[in-house]
Amino acid sequence: MLIGTMNHPQQNVLEEIAWMADAGMDFIDLTLEPPGAASWSVDTDAIHATLERHRMMVVGHTAWYLPMASAIPEIREAAVAELRRCLHRFGELGAKWMNLHPDRHTPWHSREFYIQRNLDTIRELLPHAAKCGVGLMIENLPGDYNSASQLSDLLNPIPELGLHLDIGHANLQVPHNTTEEILEAHGKRLRHVHLHDNKGGHADLHLPLGTGNIDVCRSVQALHACGYDGTITLEVFTPDRHYLTYSRDLLRNLWNDCGRAKVVNGA
Ligand SMILES: [Zn+2]
Repeated sequence: MLIGTMNHPQQNVLEEIAWMADAGMDFIDLTLEPPGAASWSVDTDAIHATLERHRMMVVGHTAWYLPMASAIPEIREAAVAELRRCLHRFGELGAKWMNLHPDRHTPWHSREFYIQRNLDTIRELLPHAAKCGVGLMIENLPGDYNSASQLSDLLNPIPELGLHLDIGHANLQVPHNTTEEILEAHGKRLRHVHLHDNKGGHADLHLPLGTGNIDVCRSVQALHACGYDGTITLEVFTPDRHYLTYSRDLLRNLWNDCGRAKVVNGA
């Protein structure tokens, strides 16, 4: 299991990589967003060299606000163009996966309409993704894409699409955390994980682990149960990086301890 974190899109990417390396991160969850990390202005050669120097990997992340299901065709096409550019950048950096945030901002339209527009966008991106050597994965979002069946609407029609599970999101606007049900249904498609804490309800607080009401040990057991041993991004958003390093150590310990507990129980 590899632990990473995300760059702040207002900051210089190279400086972000430097402090992440100091904090012992295995990879950067690189979000290509303006103003600090725009897909059209980042220096991928310099980023690549800096990652090599620090022996870090990269996972691809894109802006969460792209209108990939817009009811206005030209606006949806602009989202496709931006995502194609991101794929190209991540291909240059050697990323294996790039995430997508499924869209639902289509007032006066049915769910079926915006599901179809999301699928259109993903299908248009697939040939370009293959050319760049980068896979596509969708992130679960509170509201419309946060249960196993809601995610089936996107995952079932496109077998090559990966799942990017955000365990913090799985705790929002739901009667109970949906991590386990999503992994039971789609665990074989899991390609990347985001982890952060919150107190349920609607507020996506991105707290340090252990400070909200998410049972991190139980989440780790669910990841073990589907055989996952990949990248986990600590999406802990705080100016005080001690909270991030605390979360890193907690996750590493729980990954070992909760894993062992599961083996004992299963024996
Ligand atoms: Zn996330």
